[in-house]
Amino acid sequence: MFLDTPPPAEKQLGLTDTFSFSCHSRLSCFNLCCRNKYLPLTPYDIVRIRKALNIHSDDFLEKFTLYRLDPNSGFPILSIKMGDKDGLCPFVGPDGCTIYNDRPTACRLFPLGRSSGISGDGTAREEFLYLLDTQGCKGVKEKKVQSVKAWRDDQGLLPYIEMNDKMLGLLFHPNRDDSKHLDQRQQQKVMVACYNIDLFRDFVFKTGFTEQYKIDEETAKRVMESDVALLTLGFTYLDGTLFSL
Ligand code: SF4
Ligand code: SF4
Repeated sequence: MFLDTPPPAEKQLGLTDTFSFSCHSRLSCFNLCCRNKYLPLTPYDIVRIRKALNIHSDDFLEKFTLYRLDPNSGFPILSIKMGDKDGLCPFVGPDGCTIYNDRPTACRLFPLGRSSGISGDGTAREEFLYLLDTQGCKGVKEKKVQSVKAWRDDQGLLPYIEMNDKMLGLLFHPNRDDSKHLDQRQQQKVMVACYNIDLFRDFVFKTGFTEQYKIDEETAKRVMESDVALLTLGFTYLDGTLFSL
């Protein structure tokens, strides 16, 4: 079961497969790709960028994101809001990406794409990596050759993959009736626990959440200090409540 349709077998890449790519400021296409793009933002992407910008997640969501519902599942999907007039990514500057250390998953992966899913019995994670359509990108004509694994590691993708794949447990939850859309109450829960980390922190610490869900002191301290721990708690909370029977 996959989130996106996996690419045809001949396009799929294994970790030891290689590809040519190098992106640098001497290329005539430099910065041209950071515009007029659909760039999805995962919950972990948002946690990282919001922290780097040091703004409240309400402000982040309002200023930098677009919201829509997945037509099949009704799950909220967020993406970067490109400039109305110039189509530019709000994070691109003359020297490249201004949030480079915290750039989102899709930008780290490029020129690769990744589809992820879980096995039919729900026990194992599966993934397919493949080369995207890179029209206009001069980087793919550069001589530098690397393996998919080296690219994944160099781009710091492992923590992103680990956190992004936690969403799979919700999307393919055994109690979810996939003929039904999430209702508004479920969508709101996902928005708060996955995407609005500051609001979720208030929910955890300013309501009876810690007593209701028996959060021990050590976990509460960790969650208070780390947005990633808080997001992980958000996934656990949704796993237990979003489709409760
Ligand atoms: S986040 Fe950075 S790398 Fe991604 S499109 Fe925007 S400027 Fe480009
Ligand atoms: S088009 Fe390709 S090589 Fe050019 S800046 Fe974008 S990613 Fe880099």
